[in-house]
Amino acid sequence: MSVIDTVKQKVGIEEQPPQYVCDDCGERFRSAADEDSYWFQCPECGSGDVARAESGSI
Ligand SMILES: [Zn+2]
Repeated sequence: MSVIDTVKQKVGIEEQPPQYVCDDCGERFRSAADEDSYWFQCPECGSGDVARAESGSI
């Protein structure tokens, strides 16, 4: 097992990227992209007003 896998298990990420929710349209989506990136936005409406969703709230 690699160090990366060990870290992922510790923080509970496992296979899927974190989930985000759009403040504008409510779209929930997963992205492994950097949320601080200029181009990080909602795939539904294109809004950059996106927040990290609570884990396990699917
Ligand atoms: Zn949206």
